[in-house]
This record gives sequence, structure tokens and C-alpha cells, in this order.
Amino acid sequence: MDAVNKPNSTSSENLQDAVREILPNHVVPKHYNILIEPAFDGTTFEGTVKINFVAVTQLEFIVLNAKGLEIEFAEIQYKDDFYEIPLDSFNQHSKLERWEISLQNCRKPMPEEAFTLAMDYNGQINEYGAGLFRSPNLSIPGYMLSTEMEPTNARMVFPCIDEPALKATFSISLIVQENLTCLSNMPIESESPMPRSDQKRLYFAKTPLMSTYLIAFAIGHFDMMQSDEFRVPVRVHAPKGSAIQDGQYALDIAVKALAHYEKLFDYDFPLPKMDLLVVPNAFSAMENWGLATFQPQYLLLGPDSKAADKMESASMICHELAHQWFGNLVTMTWWDDLWLKESFADWAAIHIRTVWSQIPDIEAWEDFASSGFQLALYSDSFRNTHPIQATVHRPSEISQIYDDITYKKGCSIINMLAVLDNQGAENFKDGIRKYLKTYAYGNATASNLWTAIGEDKYGFLETWIKTPGYPLLILEETPEDSASKGYGYHVDQERFLITPKLKRKERKAWWPVLVHEEDTDSREWVTLSNHRLQDFRPAIRPENLNQGRVGFHRVGYSSASFLQKIAKCFAEDDGNRVADRIGIISDTAALAFARHRLCRTQDLLNLLNLYKGETNFFVWRTMLVTLSEIRKLLLFTNEDTRTAVLNFQNSLTSKLIHEKGWIFEENEPLNEQRFKAFLFGYAGGDKNVTDAALAMFKSFFRRDMKAINPNIRTEVFKLVLEMGGIKEYRKLHSLLLTTLQPRIRTDILSSLGYSQHPASIEATLEIALRTTSQSGNEVFITIRPLTTHKPGIEALWEVMKSKKWFQAENLSLRTLAPIIEVILDAFTTMEQYEEVKILFDSIDTTGVENTIAQGLERIQARARWVEQDHDEIAKWLREHGYFSKTAQELARITVIKKAWKNMTDALPLRRASQPLRRPSEPMP
Ligand SMILES: [Zn+2]
Repeated sequence: MDAVNKPNSTSSENLQDAVREILPNHVVPKHYNILIEPAFDGTTFEGTVKINFVAVTQLEFIVLNAKGLEIEFAEIQYKDDFYEIPLDSFNQHSKLERWEISLQNCRKPMPEEAFTLAMDYNGQINEYGAGLFRSPNLSIPGYMLSTEMEPTNARMVFPCIDEPALKATFSISLIVQENLTCLSNMPIESESPMPRSDQKRLYFAKTPLMSTYLIAFAIGHFDMMQSDEFRVPVRVHAPKGSAIQDGQYALDIAVKALAHYEKLFDYDFPLPKMDLLVVPNAFSAMENWGLATFQPQYLLLGPDSKAADKMESASMICHELAHQWFGNLVTMTWWDDLWLKESFADWAAIHIRTVWSQIPDIEAWEDFASSGFQLALYSDSFRNTHPIQATVHRPSEISQIYDDITYKKGCSIINMLAVLDNQGAENFKDGIRKYLKTYAYGNATASNLWTAIGEDKYGFLETWIKTPGYPLLILEETPEDSASKGYGYHVDQERFLITPKLKRKERKAWWPVLVHEEDTDSREWVTLSNHRLQDFRPAIRPENLNQGRVGFHRVGYSSASFLQKIAKCFAEDDGNRVADRIGIISDTAALAFARHRLCRTQDLLNLLNLYKGETNFFVWRTMLVTLSEIRKLLLFTNEDTRTAVLNFQNSLTSKLIHEKGWIFEENEPLNEQRFKAFLFGYAGGDKNVTDAALAMFKSFFRRDMKAINPNIRTEVFKLVLEMGGIKEYRKLHSLLLTTLQPRIRTDILSSLGYSQHPASIEATLEIALRTTSQSGNEVFITIRPLTTHKPGIEALWEVMKSKKWFQAENLSLRTLAPIIEVILDAFTTMEQYEEVKILFDSIDTTGVENTIAQGLERIQARARWVEQDHDEIAKWLREHGYFSKTAQELARITVIKKAWKNMTDALPLRRASQPLRRPSEPMP
């Protein structure tokens, strides 16, 4: 369908265009012919692009996107006539990332005339995962090249109109050494040796109509495995020397996911092949059409991978493959609808887990309710949040919306829509099928999706995607006399904010909320579309205002005793109430942290105490994450109170940890394995567990690699390092520099920061700074454990103050924003708030200003809770006997003191510089 290439016409869209920083729409690109030839040393490339355009008006100039490219030659061609464009006709706006090309000295295209603009240019190859970049091979010297164009990096590889709505077809061609393998969106059509050289030229088949941000190609020495079980070939590729056989799990998942999606979407996968490629320096994963790229740990899962890795890998692959339809076949018109593809891909990746037998997981939504759903509710409970459909004017604003609101809140809203449908989600499925068929090879907006699903739901969803924040529903029992008519309640709603005092305007905001009303034969939804619902009289279980945690809202109860009564009711109905127990704990925790009038922190502690007999993993995860959040909040106050919280936590978990143990059976369900590993990681106060961790660690370094089950490898490293072992730190550090196994590398990086020894902190920071320039994802897993202790936080703040991350030229905004977020999330006092403010007032923070504003607001909220609730929480813990040290706690302190005493020797650590596998030589 070609309709997408017509300029926009409606007045509201013209209005939007006026605030969007887009190129003038006086030319329409139809086809790109792209030739790329990387230099032998892999640092630069030469490019030629020929763009077939059609002029909309008579042209005086042409404007294209280009970033970091240098023009060498340009000409314009009409059928058989050629006109050279002098280079001084190129006006380069580096800030706007544009070339304005004046046509003063050559014939100007007339309206509706077709012409070709041809340009020779050169550009840079970097190693930080944007545009065309290098990655080190995993196990042999040398490197590979690959691309990442999303959101606006295609312009770093070829001059283009880099906007998702300006779809075109692409013919890509490469000149490379003849022994190298090349991949792109489409298969290779032909290849021939270059005369008088050891190079070859490859031509890939022409693509269908697609957006520039989805273009991809890769060059290197690759190993490959293929499956022919799907209608078209599906392959996993990895740099040569990787354990390619470890790609079998990913390949199986990919084949099954593609087959599943073809049925779900009722639309054949549109390309002749699907490749999945390991890219060590990839940001995370990227859905390029026909050539999706992934960090190694998502595709290479050897015998040493853990249950959590398998789940993560499956959901990442299912997410990227859902994009092959949602995003690639039908693309958002502009970046403000980024959520449309991301939240849908997230929804599809969870939905698939509940319906297929490859990874049977009946609790996929409970998993989400206790993880992504909570992250979205948390982010959205501050004033500095944004609507799902965010306003995006220019490229620098896009990087700040790859966040929990876009992905997780969006996913929750899509899920609400799917569940809302009474007919087993068939209307919803029919709607998305219609949407894909109507807009295939074109672009669409959120309202196009609503229309396809059914106009009646349009209004309901508009509020959810356009309004920031979400409501708190307050359930109040009505007086005794009206109770005789059955259950009687009032339901009120108000915006839920962690930051104090609702402003007058905020008090007026309301959302259409779906209140589930359960009945013996049918499921019905009550739309609560005003501030107050008087005499709400549901038939059964009236207390539940968010059945299964489908609605994106929190629930509060009018009194502490009412809350406890409901919590007991959820606990007794063990089988069906997992999501509700997760919900009541997390809602109560959120109200307590907000210091909401309905709830005190002691109500939360009473609730956790009530649930100590719990048996479900996801409920336990919610409870323990809540307790660890309390400990984190108390980090800069009283150490004795923190210890008392730990004693309380141990009193809840101790029996269960020993019942479950830490022996893992081969065929145990993945969630059971995750449960055991999770509990083990939270058992730092249990001497039996720490002794076991130390013993496993010792055997592991005596070359018994099987001594630590992969499920608890990070936890064992963490427990050993937390006990202060400097010798152990040194061992892990050396292993990091030599290991070729991506999973072990990730586990070490996620543990080193737990060591509090000054020399270890310095070494960990050195790794973080080095990985910053290579892999955005690795830097977070390295610095996150440093934020669990004071010396680590202080050291991280020193690095932030040195502005090293801000001055790093090759650091993308998509990496910088989460670094800032992770560090600011560790602060809990107003003194820290002031310090943060002073620093960022003195730096140009363009592109991360929202992240900083959010961070500051969160520090304020935490500081307020600490100041006002510390004494109350200490009182509760004292009254319940958690201040007196248990025998286990005393034993643990002795172990730590002993370990620290042995740490007087200086740290002769090997410097991390050269061994971190930088590309040190030209591609062989
Ligand atoms: Zn995605």
C-alpha cells in the first residue's frame, strides 16, 4: 500500500507537524540504493546513496537528515540528464542533524516529477551501539560490524528522510573482504568478486516498503544454526568461535513464536527469512525487520543458564518477533505513538506464555503484576511522569520515553482492553487483525487501532493514553443500617501521587475505571466514571476493586481494620487470589510510602506479618522487594533499625528457605527454580546459607564449575562479597577478564559492586566507566549493586560530579538517562537533594532533563518518608522484638568482622584496560 507516502492533509495533523521537528514534505522518497564499504581497519566507511524521489512542488532545495557524515560528491539525475551539485550548495546543520541542499546551480525538479539524488560520502564506525558500530568477537581476536538505527541513527549511516512515516523500498549492497559473511533485512540476491582485489560485492534483495529505523546489516565471521520447521528459514547467528550450539533454545522459541503469531495475527510473516544475530555491543535487543539483533545472553543459553535467563530470553525473543508485525509491518506515524509498538510487543510476549506449551506458564500475568506492572505504577505516581502518548518534537526527546510508562503502563492498558472483551478476547483479536490488514506496509496511529477494535472503546482508552497518572479507589463500608440491603459501599477516586497534597486541578482529574463485579455465571465490569459511586452493591466479593490486577489503579481501604479483614480474606482463598495478594501488598506499600491519610507504615508491616504463611513465588517477591525497599530508604539513617528490618525479614523467610533448600532438579518447573534462587539471594542473615555459599564458592574456584548451580551463581557471588571477602573479589575480577562465557560475565558484573572495600569499589567503577563506551546495558548491571551501600553510592556520586559520563562523546542519551536514574534512586535525604540540584544546574542536561526532574522529585518523597516514619517503624520493630540480636545475626557479624580484618593487604588488581576484549586488530 502506497497511501502512506502521500503528504498529510487533515488540519489536526498539520497542526501536529508544526510542533514536530520534521523535514519539509516537498519531496517523497520512493527507493534508496545504498552501497557501504567499510575501511579495512573498521573505523570509517565510504557510502554511496541514490534516492529516487518524487517532487511535490517545484523545488528550490532539498532537506535530508545526516549526522557525522561528510559529503564528497553529489549529482541530480532526470531520466538521462545529470547535473552535478557543487559541494558549497550543501548547508550542514549539525545540531539539527540536517543537510540543506540548494539547487540554485542545477535544474530544479518540477511538481510530480521523478528524479534521483546521488551522493558519495564517508562516515564513522563507532563502538557504542548506534549507527554502524563494532563489537568484539566473543572468543577470537577481531570484531564484527552491525547497525542499530532506532530511533534516529539511520542518518549516521546514509543521508535520508529519517522519519517513520516516510517509508520506501531499499536495495542494500556491501563491499567487503571475500571471506566475510554479510547479513541484512533481506537475503543475498547476488555476489561477485571485485576485480584486482580480495574483496567481493554483495547485493541484497529489494525490501518491501519500510521505515529507515528498521534497516540493518551486519558483517563478520559468523557461525550459524538454522531451522526449517517454520514456513521460511529461521536462523541464529553468532560471531565465530561462540558456542553456537547454545543457540538451540532461542531457535526453538523463535520458530514457535513466529508460527504462533501468524495464527494470532492471521497474517503471514511477510519476509522470505528471519535471522537472529548475537551482537555483543548491542544496547539490548532490536527488532530490525528480518534481522533482529540481541546481546549474547538472550540467544546463547548453554547448559549453565538459569531458569530466570530462559524466561528472560523467551520474552525478549517473543517481544522482538511480535514487532515483525506490530511496528515493522504497521509502523507508528510518529514517535509520540512509540508506545503502540512497544506495549503491544510486551503484551504479546506475556500473552504467548499463557497459551503455548513451549514454556508453560500459567502465571505469566501474576509475574507481570509483581514486576513490570508495579514499576509502571511507581513511575506514574510522581508529578514528573508523562502520558503514554508523549509529545515528541525532536530526536533528543525520544530517548527519554523508552521507559516503564511507554512499555509497561502501555502493556497494562492493552491488557485491560483484551480482558474487557467479554467474548474471550475474540473482538480484540479480530480488531488487531483488521488493523494489521488495513495498514500493512504503512503507518497508523493509536486511534486507528481503537477504530479497528471497536469505536465504543475509543473514548475509554483516550483518557488512559492521554492523561498522566492514575487513580486510587477508596472503598468505604456504609453504615450498618444500609447493610441490611446486602453489601453496601461507597467508592471514591482520586489521583494517586506519592508527592504530597493534591493540587486543586489534580483533584479534578478522573479516569474511567473498570471495577470487576463477580457473579456466579457472568463477568461484568462496572464503569466508575465519576468521583464517587454511592451504594455500590456488587453480588459477591464486593471488597475487590481490582480483580486479577487488570485495572491500572490502586485500591485503598477506609480503615486499618477493614484492610486487615480483606487481606485475611485474600489469604484464605489461596488458589485464586495470587494477583490480589500481590496487589494488596503493593498498594498498601505505595500508600505507606506516600504517607497517605489512609495508611501508616505499621499497617504495611502488620500485613506482611499476616502473609508469612504464603506459598506463592510472586507474592513472596512482592513482600521481599517491599522490605528491601524499606532497608534502602533507611540507608542514611539508623543502622540498628535497618538490622531490625533484616531480622524481621529473616523471621518471615527462614523456615521457607530451609524447606525449599538450594538443590535444583533438572525437570523442576522454571518458576519453582526461580523461587528457590530468589529466596536464597534474600538469605544474607542466615548463617547456614552464608556457610553454604562460601563452600560452593571455594569449590568453584578449585575448578569444580558445577559446584554452584547457575540459578544461584549471582546470589553466591553476592553473599560472599557482602561478607567482605577481598580475596574473593580478586578471584572474580580475574575470572571476568578471561571468561568467554557471556552468562558468567554477566553474573560477575552483577555482583562485583556488592563488595564495599575501597579498592574493590575503585576497580568496579573502572569497569563501569570502560563498559559505558561499549555496552549500555552492562554499565547498569555493574553500577546497580554499588547503590546498595553508602561507600558505593558516594563513589558513584563522585564520578557523576566529575562529569565524565556527560563529557563522554560516544555515550548515547539512551545510556546516560538510566545511569542518572539508578544513581539518583539511591539518595534519601534533603542534603543529597540540594547537592544533586546544584550539580545539574551547572551542566547542559539537554535530553535528560525529565530524568533529572523525576529523580529530584523521588528524592524529596523518600526524604519525607524517612524523616516522618523512621520512629514509627522503629517502634513497631522494637515492640515485636526485632531489635534484640538473634544468635544468627551475632554469628553473621563475627564472620564479617573476621573477613574485614583479613583485608589489610593492598589490592594488586590487574588493570582492566586491555583484556576487556577491545578490537585490537583489523578484521582478518
Ligand atoms: Zn520493542
